Amino acid sequence: MKHLKTLRVRFTLWTAIWLLLVLSLSEAFVYINFAREQAQSIDDALRLTAAQVLLDIDDEMLLLEHANTVASSILRDQFSIQIVDLAGETRQRYGLYQDLLPPHRIAAIPDQTGIFTTVIDPASQHSIRVYTVPIVEEERTLGLLQVAQSLLVLQQALNQLLTTLLIAGPIVIILAGIGGYILAARALTPIDQITRTAARISVEDLSARLDLPSTADEVGRLAATFDTMLARLEDGWRRERQFIADASHELRTPLTTMQTILSSTLARQRPPAEYEKALGDLAEETDRMKLLAEGLLLLARNDTYRAAAYQSVDFSTLLQDVTDSLSPLTADKNIALTCRVPPNLSLNGDHDGLIRMFVNLLGNAIKYTEQGQITIFLKRQTDQFIEVALADTGMGIAAEHLPYIFDRFYRVETSRTTAGTGLGLAIALSIAKAHGGTISVESEIGKGSVFLVSLTRRQ
Ligand code: ATP
Ligand code: MG
Repeated sequence: MKHLKTLRVRFTLWTAIWLLLVLSLSEAFVYINFAREQAQSIDDALRLTAAQVLLDIDDEMLLLEHANTVASSILRDQFSIQIVDLAGETRQRYGLYQDLLPPHRIAAIPDQTGIFTTVIDPASQHSIRVYTVPIVEEERTLGLLQVAQSLLVLQQALNQLLTTLLIAGPIVIILAGIGGYILAARALTPIDQITRTAARISVEDLSARLDLPSTADEVGRLAATFDTMLARLEDGWRRERQFIADASHELRTPLTTMQTILSSTLARQRPPAEYEKALGDLAEETDRMKLLAEGLLLLARNDTYRAAAYQSVDFSTLLQDVTDSLSPLTADKNIALTCRVPPNLSLNGDHDGLIRMFVNLLGNAIKYTEQGQITIFLKRQTDQFIEVALADTGMGIAAEHLPYIFDRFYRVETSRTTAGTGLGLAIALSIAKAHGGTISVESEIGKGSVFLVSLTRRQ
């Protein structure tokens, strides 16, 4: 029963049922047409023979002239004939079925075209076709001519045709069914493979692939999509694991430092100044841990951002506010910080998230620039999106690091001297993505960097 539910069996059954219908209809059509044509040709032959015989009838005598030759040719073709006079008396008859020809009365003959009747031979039970025409001389009806032939040959031909059709039909259906089953089985093999692979896959091992030869058909596309989906899942899963490993490692570093400070300070009695320094160091490490924990929390939250919480944001004011609040950081440096964004730019988004993104980007620009300019400017805007650039004349980023700076915890070696967790850009990018946008970067070492933020307006 379970087998019946497989797609290949159902496909085969439907093919067979459909074929049965089509074949039955077309076979019935062939049979009926053949029967009609054959009956017609027998009637035509009877009419022709009657016409020939009529020519040989002596009108006065109502008898066949050259009776022997005519009769033998008629008999050879298995016709029977009978000539009847106006009184209904048989004048002459030849052939196998002469006794069967029904005694027609003159009045029963409607016109000169004659009539056809079919009678049954009681001895053999065969049907016999009879054609009756009047014998007419100068518009006078003298008698009747009847020509008959057995329908046995036609019946046999029809029976043979019926047998052939009844045998051929099921054979064709069985062959088509087998063919359909093999085709369906072939086409569906990859699906079975997909099922087995899917059953084998677990979260721990996403490495299984179908690796089927690529075909352009539906199943081929499904298999290819399945493989790319697995690749994406595996990639995501690997990154997730890497993130957890990195996060725990990053959290362990300040904890280890704190443990070291605590155990070495507690090892013996110390003057108050040393305790004070130790507490200061501990406070620094707790700050670092707090930053890390906050950063991780933000990333986790951004992954599940809800567009429903978005509100209309005055983007121009937001950028100016971020610039103003960070400008004290440039106090010790020789940097000209400017925000050149036209007023009344607006978009739909998360106000706090956007502030955090630009604080991270501008914070980096200030952190990694010693002198020169930092400029925020509007690059492009359409009805759909806004592009804002942050350009600095700082240390720049080497090409080999560029692909990784948005990764969580990634910091370029040279910037290790500055404080940081390496989460800033990852957070900024996740906020941009949550706003249907992205961040790209162009940078040259020693010359500076340009971060380009593009956001959709969702209005
Ligand atoms: P934090 O998490 O505190 O922001 P971070 O600034 O080191 O730490 P990210 O903001 O993610 O981390 O930046 C990653 C790395 O990219 C930085 O360590 C730095 O090497 C490089 N970087 C980012 N912005 C700039 C910039 N404007 N100029 C030069 N290097 C940059
Ligand atoms: Mg940063």
